[in-house]
Amino acid sequence: MPLYFRTLTELADQLAAKTITSTELTQAVIARTKAVDFQVKAFNSFDEADALSQAAASDTRRAAGQARGPLDGIPIGFKDVIAVAGQPLTASSKMLANFISPYDATVTQKLKQAGAVCWGRLNLDEFAMGSSTENSAFHTTRNPYDLERVPGGSSGGSAAALAAGEAIATLGSDTGGSIRQPAALCNVVGLKPTYGLVSRFGLIAFASSLDQIGPFTRTVEDSALLLRAIAGHDERDSTSFKTEIPDYRAALQEKPGPWRIGIPKEYFGEGLDPEVAAAVQKAVEYYKSIGCEIKDVSLPHTEYGVGVYYIIATAECSSNLARYDGVRYGHRSKEAKDILDVYFKSRAEGFGPEVKRRIILGTYVLSSGYYDAYYLRAQKVRTLIRNDFLEAYKSVDVILTPTSPTPAFKRGAKADPLAMYLCDVYTIGVNLAGLPGISVPCGFSRGGLPIGMQLIGQPFREADLLAVANAYDAPHAWGKKTPTL
Ligand code: GLN
Repeated sequence: MPLYFRTLTELADQLAAKTITSTELTQAVIARTKAVDFQVKAFNSFDEADALSQAAASDTRRAAGQARGPLDGIPIGFKDVIAVAGQPLTASSKMLANFISPYDATVTQKLKQAGAVCWGRLNLDEFAMGSSTENSAFHTTRNPYDLERVPGGSSGGSAAALAAGEAIATLGSDTGGSIRQPAALCNVVGLKPTYGLVSRFGLIAFASSLDQIGPFTRTVEDSALLLRAIAGHDERDSTSFKTEIPDYRAALQEKPGPWRIGIPKEYFGEGLDPEVAAAVQKAVEYYKSIGCEIKDVSLPHTEYGVGVYYIIATAECSSNLARYDGVRYGHRSKEAKDILDVYFKSRAEGFGPEVKRRIILGTYVLSSGYYDAYYLRAQKVRTLIRNDFLEAYKSVDVILTPTSPTPAFKRGAKADPLAMYLCDVYTIGVNLAGLPGISVPCGFSRGGLPIGMQLIGQPFREADLLAVANAYDAPHAWGKKTPTL
């Protein structure tokens, strides 16, 4: 297996055993990226020299006996909404096309402290709004398993780069499914942590009550390793939670099960592709075969999820994106004649159609006269959705569902925004309820497209969630399969 397709855990062991160096590994990832990214188009930008100098620093540390742990020397890619000082931070928007971040996000700081090589800026749907990466203002990322198909979104670049061997792990953000859905479509593991576990400081805000940063990896074990490095309380994010961060990787072995796994009937109805249903069902059978108790559960307010999400997420985005006014940073129109013109023209030129649609929708649901009917009511239904999950957790440990209703679809196939919004039916509830969710590869369609299942855990019980996920992933390891490019 070439270096760029190995797991983080394997490479960490090889670096520790000094059978490889970070420079060799980083060179392999760079060469692979140059060889395939003209097809995959996962990157917005990368800085080869900078990555190699980080790798050299890692090798020097290790030679001096000062290696900082398993991530030291591992090239990790960043969704282009997570700040790395001195690197571009564009949100795949014209609005920020020339913006260089003056500071590090907290997750970036933590990864740097752990010795990781911060590698490359990964494409996304503009401001993380979308499910296919087609809303990027720059270019569309392709699915490495079929270049005519989308990688999912909004973290499509993060999923595709990892699947194609252009990074050893990547970070993404998930507001309504943006880590889990592209992970499912690209045959990698994607974890959205509990709201508040990972600091959002330095993440470009989309919908602040829903956004979380999380890892993309090839295995659940790698996910456990990377989560531990980025999680933890941060004074600079007032919603970040004070909680002990366990050694998630060690916990994979310490939590032997058998677990009670809930299957919500609302997630297996109309619109679910039969091949996805069959692959997920096989995973359920596997859990049964290792002694897990499989139980039917009900999440009765599921049908309101998409509606509630597109009220709350757009309301929050209309407020968060008000800061892009052409005054202090970002795109400023050259045509503007006075201050109002600066606002109007800069925003009209800088934002793409989906972002504008959401700002308009969000402004509407917050406006006087409509606030009670839409925003306030959506908040109440959000509580009902959360209560559904908490009720289910009285009788089960985790919940198992498909991640995406279908495998990767063709580019351009979902021109209607509503059709695109329905990609998130199985992932949105998790964000609304603030829960942790992980997508784990569970097979391929007859046409060779990846399929993922979603496991949903209880708040701040990532250790349990990862253990259940690993019990399936370790023996199956679909994520170690690689695409032919
Ligand atoms: N696809 C959803 C949306 O368009 C979720 C995006 C996300 O999680 N960032 O809003």
